Amino acid sequence: MKELPFPMTYESVVLISAGASGIGLACARALAESGHRVLTLDIDAEAVARFQDEFGKGSAVVCDVADAAQVEAAFHSLVDPHQRVDLLFNNAGIAGPQQPVEDIEVAAWQSTIDTDLNSVFYLTRLVIPLMKSQRSGLILNMSSSAGRYGCSMRSPYVAAKWAAIGLAQTWAMELGPWNIRVNALCPGSVGGERIDRVIDRDAAERGMTPDEIRKIYQRQSSLRDFVRPEDIAAMVCFLAGPGGRMISGQTLGIDGHTESLANWLDP
Ligand code: NAD
Repeated sequence: MKELPFPMTYESVVLISAGASGIGLACARALAESGHRVLTLDIDAEAVARFQDEFGKGSAVVCDVADAAQVEAAFHSLVDPHQRVDLLFNNAGIAGPQQPVEDIEVAAWQSTIDTDLNSVFYLTRLVIPLMKSQRSGLILNMSSSAGRYGCSMRSPYVAAKWAAIGLAQTWAMELGPWNIRVNALCPGSVGGERIDRVIDRDAAERGMTPDEIRKIYQRQSSLRDFVRPEDIAAMVCFLAGPGGRMISGQTLGIDGHTESLANWLDP
């Protein structure tokens, strides 16, 4: 019987893409509180500086995850001092264009796919050899309710988030024999600045008030509430702990049960 790595030890190293703010930062905080060493690569230099203040020198570097060469350089600068990664959280993702598919510019499609999907490949391919040599590891791909159910006007985002689930299932098969678990996380709409921006944009485009749009979003969930970043962090900590030992290849909703995503194309 193979040796099991859980619970993760104090020395365990967590690498989060785009973890310097938002959901990634909430997860970094929760994981650090549980004793994990957290590292991130993020495009926002000011947020990276704040992350370093909070989590220590060498914990963060500026990097555009859509650029394979930058990811490789950032990976080595963050991970080489530790020589291990216990948890890779492929968290990076931008909302992308919110338009009917026929209006989406090729450049906007490409940049969403580069950031939300290709970055998952760029980072994971670097982490796997370490995890294989450790014979342990956990990889989490950030998907979304949109990656399970679709979401009109968000084609490249949905394509990337749907792919994040397929990759998690495929990599769970490929990597399971090395005791590496892979899962996809599917949060519903998360409260905070990002959803406020999406709601304001929707309201302006549709001639509705932000409050009306907000209620439509909240009605998507049976619990009639937005997800908190802390809800996602709690799931990540659970998966990284002993309870996650046999959880792999799963698509885990953190959404209060999605009943339906608003169909904005209704005439
Ligand atoms: P966010 O918009 O708050 O951004 C988080 C971080 O991403 C920021 O620090 C930003 O600098 C960084 N970032 C953006 N582009 C980058 C790039 N090219 N390279 C490196 N870093 C980059 O995002 P969030 O709301 O925390 O979402 C995190 C993840 O969760 C995304 O994959 C998103 O699709 C997913 N998600 C979010 C929601 C939601 O409602 N917020 C719901 C479901 C899934």
